[in-house]
This record gives sequence, C-alpha cells and structure tokens, in this order.
Amino acid sequence: MKVWVNKPKCTGCAHCFDVCPVAVFQMKDRSGSDANADVAPPEQQWKGASDPAVKAKWEGVSDGHRHFQDKYEERSGGLSVAVNGEACILCQACLVECEGECITIVDDNSQQYQSIYK
Ligand code: SF4
Ligand code: SF4
Repeated sequence: MKVWVNKPKCTGCAHCFDVCPVAVFQMKDRSGSDANADVAPPEQQWKGASDPAVKAKWEGVSDGHRHFQDKYEERSGGLSVAVNGEACILCQACLVECEGECITIVDDNSQQYQSIYK
C-alpha cells in the first residue's frame, strides 16, 4: 500500500493520526526538514503555503483542533506525514475523518482511494 498526504491541504487536525490503528501517520513540524517524508508527488509536497480554499474553510473553525500551526502541540497542529504507508490495512478510517480531503491511498492493484470528509 502507498499512502501520502497532500500537504498544502493538510489542516493539522491530527484526525488521521488519532484514528489509524497501525500508526501510518506522524505529525511533523511544518518548518521541519521531514515535513515531506512520504511518497507524495512533488505538487502535493509542503513548500510553505497552505491551499487557500482549505484555509478559508477551516482557519476560523473552533472545534478543539489547532489548524495551520507550525508544531504539533495539545493533540493537533503541524501537518501529517504518512511515514509508514506499508503498514496500511485499508480500514478507511482516515479517509472519512480527513478535514483537508488530502489523503491518498493506492493499493497493490493500483486502485486509488481518496479521502472525502464525512
Ligand atoms: S486506511 Fe490505512 S492509513 Fe487510513 S486509518 Fe486505515 S490503516 Fe491507517
Ligand atoms: S486528517 Fe487530513 S487534514 Fe487532518 S492532519 Fe490528517 S491529513 Fe491533515
């Protein structure tokens, strides 16, 4: 299984990190050197700017999660990196929880799954 996060669309909500039963995701600092340590294609890597549409949707939302912050603190913030995609069991829990609709999974038959926020 290949798993990656479209980093400019990641809010840092950490829902994926919280729900994944096999620890595919880690939350990383946006300013850190390992913010792109998964298999995201170049256009989905973190280059320092969030997607304007996603930011407009989530920036002011008060749901107990810290959005678009540099660091992971108090159970949210930073951005998600799929550091352990090989472990994915395709339970699809992350796909319905992802605020930024920015997770992609490709299985061994090249079937692609995309997150759609519930
Ligand atoms: S679909 Fe894969 S990456 Fe997503 S929560 Fe399930 S095991 Fe983790
Ligand atoms: S659930 Fe989506 S938006 Fe939230 S931290 Fe994970 S990848 Fe980013």
